[in-house]
Amino acid sequence: MSSEVIGREVKRRRTFAIISHPDAGKSTMTEALALHARMISEAGAVHGKGGRRSTVSDWMEMEKARGISVSSTALQFKYSASGDDDDFPHVINLVDTPGHSDFSEDTYRVLTAVDAAVMLIDAAKGLEPQTLKLFQVCRHRGIPVITVVNKWDRPGQTPLELIDEISDRIGLIPTPLYVPVGIAGDYRGLLDRRTGEYIKFTRTAGGAKIAPEDILDAETARATEGAAWIAAAEESELLGELGQDHDQEMFLAGQTSPMIFTSAMLNFGVRQLLEALVEFAPPPRGRVAIDESTREVTDPFSAVVFKVQAGMDSSHRDRLAYMRIVSGEFERGMVVNHAQTGKPFATKYAQAVFGRDRATVDTAFPGDVVGLVNAMALAPGDTLYLDPKVQFPPIPSFAPEHFSSLRVTTADKYKQFRKAIDQLDAEGVVQVLRNDLRGDASPVLAAVGPMQFEVVTARMKAEFNVDTIIEPLGYSLARRTDEASAPELTKQRGVEVFTRSDGAILALFSDKWRLQYIEKEHSDLVLEPLVAAA
Ligand code: GDP
Repeated sequence: MSSEVIGREVKRRRTFAIISHPDAGKSTMTEALALHARMISEAGAVHGKGGRRSTVSDWMEMEKARGISVSSTALQFKYSASGDDDDFPHVINLVDTPGHSDFSEDTYRVLTAVDAAVMLIDAAKGLEPQTLKLFQVCRHRGIPVITVVNKWDRPGQTPLELIDEISDRIGLIPTPLYVPVGIAGDYRGLLDRRTGEYIKFTRTAGGAKIAPEDILDAETARATEGAAWIAAAEESELLGELGQDHDQEMFLAGQTSPMIFTSAMLNFGVRQLLEALVEFAPPPRGRVAIDESTREVTDPFSAVVFKVQAGMDSSHRDRLAYMRIVSGEFERGMVVNHAQTGKPFATKYAQAVFGRDRATVDTAFPGDVVGLVNAMALAPGDTLYLDPKVQFPPIPSFAPEHFSSLRVTTADKYKQFRKAIDQLDAEGVVQVLRNDLRGDASPVLAAVGPMQFEVVTARMKAEFNVDTIIEPLGYSLARRTDEASAPELTKQRGVEVFTRSDGAILALFSDKWRLQYIEKEHSDLVLEPLVAAA
């Protein structure tokens, strides 16, 4: 395929994730986006929440029992933005960030596969903990963020309060593209700050349809909405005076964030979000390889695996890997190379995970997410490519917050236990920490979410027939340290030092007060926060 064709396909793609705290409305927004844009395909499982479209994956028994999805899901939509040729609409990939009780390292890894993020916040609650954690990963990776204030149909804070909260707490300057007309709880429409026009929404029964929009000029808007319009116009003017207008360079640099007010439930503001994604979110770009060369999007095929999901089938065959395409064209059935093992990987089963009705997608382009079955050898961070060879840097480990020791309960299974722990470690299921004191028989597992521990014990049993016990440890945070600082840290109460399998030396602390105390008393010790490396 010519690089011209690939270039055109890349230009019309936008790949993003929604970062939010549980209950802010991510699922409702996903459905609203699907209503406004035409769904092309769906890779993997969708959350099986009550009453919703539910295709709970049967990949893991645990998943079934809980009715949640352990996997990332990628949805692909076609959306004709204003000015688009209907025969060549934009293609939007929404990569799901698992949340709720399935919050795990995978939630962060998803952010290595996207080019932009939508930070969805509840109008009443503002910034919440999970959103903040995910935002920090976006910041470190340089992912530009669009801010969506959802549930504007319900009482909440004022636009200026929300703007202040975001700029004060995370140093991100919101640049509202529209100002809502009507306070939170009385959502009537939007003042389009660029045209000065009023976009008036009409409710549909149960919010089941796209909300009709009327475009009115400012004079008519003032006559119809009175004080609500005047307030919106004043807010818009004030924002202009403060210089809070969209600036593409500052947005791409992660300094400002276009802001949109929505009601995912009523489908208000959803079209505006899609338009903003198309207009401002960057299309897929090339990626820097380990040797510091850049694989450009029009170069031969390459992709990065960002998530691997293993089934509970002891035959080991039902392993699903998700890759994000970095360059070139992917064709179903292609035999590609696996950079980590140097072995070929056949992709003939790539279609099996596309679409609810197994509709096959024959080709995919940079920015797209493809699920591969029988992906035994693949681990998160791995590179797949067609010549010339390329290998991308590994996905960094993220700051764990949960720590447990793992013990095998049957003595004669020790060998299998070691083999299993090495494999789960290599697959990136959990981080494995060791020190001399504890020995190899009871490594410490570190995770971003506690569900990662359950995955370990379940797979130990199902795939290796090893019974294990997980025992939570009294540590709640980790810092990166070095060889020189380790002996002094080991002497401290409430601290333990470990080596992670990637060689990093980590000190675990019982709580943040312990850490603060030690930092104060021993300012010469190296104690760096563990964040996602850029
Ligand atoms: P998630 O946990 O972020 O996926 O949130 P959900 O989409 O499941 O939404 C959580 C709750 O908020 C549900 O009861 C939704 O119906 C409700 N909800 C979501 N968006 C809106 C909205 O725009 N307005 C109102 N009033 N409720 C909403």
